[in-house]
Amino acid sequence: MYLLYNISMVTRRTTFRLYPTRAQEKTLYAWRRLHGYLYNSALADRRDSYQKEGVSVNYFDQQNRLPEFKKVWTEYKELGSQALQATLKRVDFAYQRFFTGKGGYPKFKSIRHYSGWTYPAKSGWAALTDGVNGYLDLSNLGKIQMRGLARQWGLPTTCTILNRHGKWYASITVNCEVVRETGDGAIGLDFGVTHAVAMSDGTIIDAPKFLAKAAKDIKKANKEKRRKHRPERKKKIKASKGWNKAQRKVSKLTRKVARQRQDWMHQISSNIVRGNSLIATEKLTIKNMTRKAKKGSKRKAQKTGLNRNMLDVGIGMLKSAIKYKVTEAGGQYIEIPTQKVKPSQTCPNCGHQQKKELSERVHTCLQCGYTADRDVAAAQVMLNWVLYDSTVFGTSIVKRGEPCSTPSPTHCGGMAQLGSAKRKKHSLLDGNLETPSSRSRVG
Ligand SMILES: [Zn+2]
Repeated sequence: MYLLYNISMVTRRTTFRLYPTRAQEKTLYAWRRLHGYLYNSALADRRDSYQKEGVSVNYFDQQNRLPEFKKVWTEYKELGSQALQATLKRVDFAYQRFFTGKGGYPKFKSIRHYSGWTYPAKSGWAALTDGVNGYLDLSNLGKIQMRGLARQWGLPTTCTILNRHGKWYASITVNCEVVRETGDGAIGLDFGVTHAVAMSDGTIIDAPKFLAKAAKDIKKANKEKRRKHRPERKKKIKASKGWNKAQRKVSKLTRKVARQRQDWMHQISSNIVRGNSLIATEKLTIKNMTRKAKKGSKRKAQKTGLNRNMLDVGIGMLKSAIKYKVTEAGGQYIEIPTQKVKPSQTCPNCGHQQKKELSERVHTCLQCGYTADRDVAAAQVMLNWVLYDSTVFGTSIVKRGEPCSTPSPTHCGGMAQLGSAKRKKHSLLDGNLETPSSRSRVG
C-alpha cells in the first residue's frame, strides 16, 4: 500500500492522575482554597467598583495590583505569580463571555468545589515524564507521583491542577509533532441509523455493546437514587448519605462510559484514516435525526430507539475525529450535497433512483438487480459522486493518483466496475477491516 505522511505541529492535552502524599495533599487543598478566594475577591472587586463607583476594572488593573496584594496576603507568595494571574484571567474570561452574550453574569464559586488552578507557562512546575507515568514537580511543594499515558508527547507548555470528586489530576498540554500515516484509498462512509458506520467497501461497524449495557446500568443506578432522600436547596434540606452515595455511583458510571466511547471513537477513526486519504460522506444534521416523533406517530418507538442509538454512538464526535485526522494527514474530507445526490435512493451500480422506506434494510435495484446493505449502498453512492460526478473535486482526484504506478485508481474504474469489485470483495472479505483499495495496491 502506498503511504502518505504528513507532519504537523499540534497541541495535545493529557490528564494524569496525581498521587500526593498526605502532606502534599494538605498543601494542594490549601492552595486550591487560596485560588478560590482570589477568584471570588477579583469578581467582587469588579462588581463593587462598577456598582458603587461606576468604574470598570479590567484584567490588567487587577494583575498590576497582585504584587501589593501579596505583600498583605503573604500566604499567596508560594503559589507563583503566573498561576495567580491565570486565576485572574479566569475571572476575565467569565466577564468576556458575559460581555459577548455567551454567558450570564459571573457567579461566585463555592470554595469547597473550586476546580483548581493553572500554570499558563513553564514556571512553577515541571513534568518529569516522557508521557508515561512519572512525577510532577511543583515549586514550593515538591515531586508528586503521577500516573497516566499520553497518546502523543512533546514539549510541555501548560499545566492545570484539578480536583474532581476528591481526586487530584494534572492536565498537561504539550506541543508535539504529529506524524499521521494515511493510505491512498478512497472510501465512502454512511453514519449511524442502524449501524454506527457503513463503508463503501462493505465493512459495517455497529455501536459497541458496552454502550447498551452502560445505559442499562445507569438507568438502574438512577432508579436507586430516586428512592433516596434528595437535597432541596431552597428548603435547605441536605441530601441523605444514601442519595450522595447513589449519586457518586451514577457519575462514576457516566464517566466510565464516556471514557470507553472516547477510546472506541479514536480506534475506529484511526483505522479508517490509516487506509484512506479521501473520505466521502454526507452532511448529517444530528438535530433532525434525533428529533422527537410527531404525536400519535406509529414510528414513535422506532424513533426513540433510533434517537438512543444516535446519541449513544456519538456520531458527531466520531465524524469530527475522522475529519481532523484525515485533514491532519493531508488527505481530503468531502461532504456531499445530500439533497442533490440522494444516497439512500440511488443505486450505486447503475444510478437508478427509487425511494426506500426506512424499514427497508437492503438495497435491491429494480433496474440492474444490484444488491447490498442499504447503508453500504448509500456510502458507495457518496464515493461515486465524489470520484466521478462532482466537478468541484474532479481535478484534485486525478492528482491524487499521480504518485501511484497506475495513472487511474484501479479500485474505482466505473460505477459498474466498482459494483463488481464490491461483489467480489464480499466473498473475499468477512469481517476484515482491510479495504479493497489497499488490497489492489499490495505488491
Ligand atoms: Zn441499479
